[in-house]
Amino acid sequence: MPNPRKPEKETITICAYCGVGCGFKAETIGDEIVRMTPWKEGKANHGHSCVKGRFAYDYWRHPDRVRTPMIRASIDDPWQEVGWDEAFAHAAGELKRIQATYGRSSVGGVSSSRCTNEEIFLTQKFVRAALGNNNIDNCARICHSPTQFGLSATVGAGAASQHFDSVLQADVIMVVGANPTEGHPVFGSMMKRRIRQGAKLIVIDPRRTETVDSPHCRADVHLALSPGTNVAILNSIAHVIVRENRHDPYFIKSRCEWREFELWAELIGSDEYSPDTIGPIAGVDPEDIRRAARIYSSGPRSTIYYGLGVTEHSQGSTGVMCLGNLALSCGMYGREGVGVNPLRGQGNVQGGSCLGSWPHVFSGYRFVTDDATRASFEAEWDIGLDSEPGLRLPNMFDAALTGHFKGMYIMGEDPVQSDPNQNHIIAALRSMECVIIHDLFLNETSKYAHVFLPGSSSLEKDGTFTNAERRISRVRKVVEPLAGYQDWEVTVKLMNAMGYDVSYAHAGEVLDELARLSPAYSGASFELLDRVGSAQWPVDKAAPEGTEVLHMQQFPRANGRGTFMLTGYVPTRERVSDQYPLLLTTGRILSQYNVGTQTRRTANSQWHPEDVLEMSRGDMQVRGLSDGDRVKIASRFGATRLKVVESERVNPGVIYTTFHHAESKANAVTSDLSDWATNCPEYKVTAVEVTKLMPAEWWQGDSVAKRPARREREAAVAAVEEVV
Ligand code: SF4
Repeated sequence: MPNPRKPEKETITICAYCGVGCGFKAETIGDEIVRMTPWKEGKANHGHSCVKGRFAYDYWRHPDRVRTPMIRASIDDPWQEVGWDEAFAHAAGELKRIQATYGRSSVGGVSSSRCTNEEIFLTQKFVRAALGNNNIDNCARICHSPTQFGLSATVGAGAASQHFDSVLQADVIMVVGANPTEGHPVFGSMMKRRIRQGAKLIVIDPRRTETVDSPHCRADVHLALSPGTNVAILNSIAHVIVRENRHDPYFIKSRCEWREFELWAELIGSDEYSPDTIGPIAGVDPEDIRRAARIYSSGPRSTIYYGLGVTEHSQGSTGVMCLGNLALSCGMYGREGVGVNPLRGQGNVQGGSCLGSWPHVFSGYRFVTDDATRASFEAEWDIGLDSEPGLRLPNMFDAALTGHFKGMYIMGEDPVQSDPNQNHIIAALRSMECVIIHDLFLNETSKYAHVFLPGSSSLEKDGTFTNAERRISRVRKVVEPLAGYQDWEVTVKLMNAMGYDVSYAHAGEVLDELARLSPAYSGASFELLDRVGSAQWPVDKAAPEGTEVLHMQQFPRANGRGTFMLTGYVPTRERVSDQYPLLLTTGRILSQYNVGTQTRRTANSQWHPEDVLEMSRGDMQVRGLSDGDRVKIASRFGATRLKVVESERVNPGVIYTTFHHAESKANAVTSDLSDWATNCPEYKVTAVEVTKLMPAEWWQGDSVAKRPARREREAAVAAVEEVV
């Protein structure tokens, strides 16, 4: 008897959830996906997967999916369903009207790391060519923009130096501000395998994560630092290396700028960064800092993996530079088993960075101010382009509040839920005249939108993703798009409606175009990826099938040498006080993904029905709290409510939560502070107080405090600084 569940078709594609980018075989019967099987040939996952890629795919046909375009004149009006042509005409008409009234720069766009490379490239093309300005940004602004800045400054490329498999050659693994066991599970398993084989593990994280201590994985050194002191600790580790002559002079002389090393060593070697000074500041034992430095520098192959626990700080870019400095000083670049590697949160954060959705650079990180670069894009796109860098995403919202920014195309993003300053963003959106949302579901941001264009999930489209190890892989259409169009087609039609005529027969032609304009992708094509499975950039004439390890001979800087950046420690302005004595930090868990838009619409929700607040026993006792109590978490900036649970994973004075449920409103309490170089928000450090809620308070209405106006918030911070 035939098996009724025997698939009719198998499609090889990749998981869009996290930066590991696991290959999957999607099995379908008609238009039903019956199974997602990890693909054995997948070079990032070798046949492994986690519970998100394996099980959390049914969101694609969830009843909440919007399948018809919608428009409305005002955000107070009900949505009106319309055909695609009317939606495009309305959106384009509004954008043109706004530009005619307020000027060419009064509109812009933002793309998402959930989108394919082709969609991200087309979104920046839409803004630059059809809107005529550079007001384009992407969601990496709020997560890994410091990676781009910090690694480019030290080694010339804002990307992982290694492929994932390289960890199997490492003798020492340093994990900083990341929890791969939960956040990047397939890579986390590979890392554990190497630790079981004897590699040493150093973890720098405020919390005793599963990476620090779980079956088969125990850190040799855990620096449970106070949130906000990464730079101090990393400088102190470097201090020990320099003062004990544990650095690698041969590597530094042959591969780096020696004079910059000397300047850095002078700064780092000062008593200001000795473990005895930094230990009490960061709340760690100075001897543990020395042990970490000695283990890392001994190698012989030491590698660094890091995450948002490094980047989402007011010194996020400095923290990334610290990691580059550390690896250069010990000669930990240019071989298997070494390097510095950002663990990217979403499936295509690396592609989002590479492909020009930034206000100052085109794809390939080439500056819009450079005449020759701009000329090459103008020739390809047959249109004149703006030479002025555009607005960053937070600046677009600020400009909206001053009346200078009136229209926005938001592709695959929900800034009201995911960006800092929730009320600030809502006020900015309210002041715009045309907000266009292009997404799968109505979300928090769409409450303030005028046009809704239904999106397509990664299972309904063709294109490519670039994972955290720079690996470009094919995304293949498994089922037909529910709303009729793939996302890249919608962006093209929007361009056409604006009067800028472009056409592509399929997504592969978009990849061909971006390859012509982006040196590191110059050899990429659907044909290549279909033939070899995947390829890590740079993929070009010199490396036609890609490059596993970067910086083997030289660094991609003008003189080919790595350099050392001065990384003085400047404490964050966000400090504890009598009124806000606890530091809140955030993270994620295995079964859920980011703000949960997709995973919460699958059975994975049963593993994590709500976000909870983790608190040490002592901190609970002094507040009279018991396990399961509902509490209010108040900061200088706002308040939210969660259930509290006792945890041995956080030190006294530190509390922790995940942010997968919209009701948690973690970004209602986070501060206004951001990275000095990139504006990446300081999500990881917020001074708060926690108080017990009575049942009536929990159930009656919304206890979330009204967020004070920006001026009041700044005054509050300044007042606290004076006290501290
Ligand atoms: S979420 Fe990440 S680790 Fe899990 S299956 Fe998807 S890509 Fe792989």
